[in-house]
Amino acid sequence: MVKVSNLGYPRLGENREWKKLIESYWSGKLSQADLLAEMKSLRRTFLKKQADAGLDLIPVGDFSLYDHILDLSYQFNIIPRRFAKEAHDLGLYFAIARGNKDNVASAMKKWFNTNYHYILPEWSKQKPSLKSNRLLELYLEAKELVGDKAKPVITGPITFVALSSGIEDYTAAIKSLLPLYRQIFQELVEAGASYIQVDEPIFVTDEGHSYLEAAKHVYAYFAKQVPEAKLIFQTYFEALVDPEILGNLPVAGLGLDFVHGLEENLAAVKAGYFSDKEIFAGVIDGRNVWGADLEASRDLVLEISDKVKAVHIQPSCSLLHVPVTKKGETGLNPLLKNGLAFADEKLEELRLLADQLETGFSSPKFTQKVADFKALQAADFRNLALEDLGKIPQKRHLDFKDRYPLQQEKLGLPVLPTTTIGSFPQSSEVRRIRRAWKGQEISNQAYEDFIKSEIARWIKIQEDLDLDVLVHGEFERVDMVEFFGQKLAGFATTKGGWVQSYGSRAVKPPIIYGDIQHIQPLTLKETVYAQSLTKRPVKGMLTGPITITNWSFERNDISRPDLFNQIALAIRKEIELLEDAGIPIIQVDEAALREGLPLRKDKQQAYLDDSVRAFRLATSSVKDTTQIHTHMCYSNFSEIIESIRALDADVISIETSRSHGEIIEAFETATYPLGIGLGVYDIHSPRVPSLDELISNIERPLHQLSLDQFWVNPDCGLKTRKERETVAALKNLVAATKIVRHKFGKD
Ligand code: GLN
Ligand code: ZN
Repeated sequence: MVKVSNLGYPRLGENREWKKLIESYWSGKLSQADLLAEMKSLRRTFLKKQADAGLDLIPVGDFSLYDHILDLSYQFNIIPRRFAKEAHDLGLYFAIARGNKDNVASAMKKWFNTNYHYILPEWSKQKPSLKSNRLLELYLEAKELVGDKAKPVITGPITFVALSSGIEDYTAAIKSLLPLYRQIFQELVEAGASYIQVDEPIFVTDEGHSYLEAAKHVYAYFAKQVPEAKLIFQTYFEALVDPEILGNLPVAGLGLDFVHGLEENLAAVKAGYFSDKEIFAGVIDGRNVWGADLEASRDLVLEISDKVKAVHIQPSCSLLHVPVTKKGETGLNPLLKNGLAFADEKLEELRLLADQLETGFSSPKFTQKVADFKALQAADFRNLALEDLGKIPQKRHLDFKDRYPLQQEKLGLPVLPTTTIGSFPQSSEVRRIRRAWKGQEISNQAYEDFIKSEIARWIKIQEDLDLDVLVHGEFERVDMVEFFGQKLAGFATTKGGWVQSYGSRAVKPPIIYGDIQHIQPLTLKETVYAQSLTKRPVKGMLTGPITITNWSFERNDISRPDLFNQIALAIRKEIELLEDAGIPIIQVDEAALREGLPLRKDKQQAYLDDSVRAFRLATSSVKDTTQIHTHMCYSNFSEIIESIRALDADVISIETSRSHGEIIEAFETATYPLGIGLGVYDIHSPRVPSLDELISNIERPLHQLSLDQFWVNPDCGLKTRKERETVAALKNLVAATKIVRHKFGKD
């Protein structure tokens, strides 16, 4: 029998109940006992929903009060040293994630190539021990409700260690965990568990190669110590790095991603590496919102089943990365809505698929889904022929060294020009008026007038501060991607399409469902208005094609490069409008460029090349004297510095405060030749930086970079800061810049 399994279910709840409960507990409105009781009831709802959807194996232990990696660290008593004196309770658990009055939080890191972030375990010479068998408790709770369908899920020891910090000897760290996992597995087996899903996604990354020996030892140890446990060695997001070795591990099942690692995983199946294994085949995309091509999935399962002991079906990864249900999305075009599948609809698809495979008969529902899928593919909003790119310039007319002096002269800028990254504080007033406008309590005109008054107020503040390049402040945007999604053709925004980003923080990515087209000005009105109020240059603010794609749910019926290019051409139109309207500087933010870097080295260069081409497609048509800026948030730049340079943006501003000088080194070794602003203070903290600190941050990179090339700006947008601290910090920033200019005799 083909079993239907799931790897993980979204935590947020249909109406983000999970988030609201946690936040009311944090704010003291909900007692701990009530929080725990409510959470238990949510967990039960999730289990019940999955059982009703006809699943054979339902994940248990994927639920969390914050993050599943934090759950593991906490359970293994891997507590950051600075918290050592604090009582081990729920307060400590949340404090590690969020910080408290005495201690800073642990760092947050991106979960592989998703937009989910986990809390970084800090080992620093600690020896792990088992606080309690959390998974057993959850299993017993689930078993009561769904019986032997309950499938415990835990991140495996190798991935846990590989994702940790503060470890000197990785082998020793893994070894120290083994008896703890053994005990967890043993107790689960005794309680009646059969399959146990052990997530080891590190084995789809390049880093996985260095843990192959460890994998042999670890899984041989479990096979010997707990022979009754039917472990599923679960991977996702890419193909196994070494199917020969990993296919030989003494485990009952292998969980493989046949969406993102299709070619390689399928080749490994066909090569016979998994002939004695039960394969848990991820045949439905677990991290995008599209309905599956069920006929193709069926054929794929049949192809796999010939070569393995048994095949079961599941999403390609945990459904943590998609919204809960499309049920409430009443505002969408029916063609689009029928073609969507959020978490609940994906489970339904899997059931239909399994039934089809069982009986060889396509039920009416199955046939309907196939028709929905085909109708969306054929929709007329999906058939735009891309313009002939050969005819569009992808290179600026003059080289940087020849055009930059022309720009600086036209702009009349001093050395070390000062500017900001774009957004200014979105006060509670801004948010209140926006809500009123969305709720149709105030007219479009009233809303626009309000935005204008905020722009005017901040132009004045910036002039008083004596900043050199001004911005309009982005008051009209809640989000730098959704805003563009709402104005370009081809995007849909949902009502409830939320996914967890970290902790209680959720994002609602727009859906790119059709051809992207520029059908109305995006930012022209606000930018031109701001420029009309001042003689100083105002910088137009746009989000770039790569970031728009990476922070959206993207179409999967055309190639990524084609999608990048479509968006790039739309952004290009807006740039041309801004330029024609006399805006002298245009910033195209690529905050998420580094984020989208593929997991595997062999795919990275193509992605970077596609990104560079799209960025240049968007930005190369401007006059020599129009200055193009870009901005990137903190990333590991050293490995992509060549591509950053290839963007050929006149000025890049980047976040540096969290990098301990590494970023400056990266730019030093590569002798970065273009304009650059290395953020001089951290905008994540309300702290106002002192003059001395700013002076030293401004001067530090001047050892490597020429005075003419350097800009002075904060690390990132100021949207989340308060007005008072923002003005105070910028005042110091301008004063510090003037002092440094004076030192160099350039005032
Ligand atoms: N221009 C955007 C802002 O200032 C950039 C945000 C970002 O880098 N994440 O808000
Ligand atoms: Zn940023």
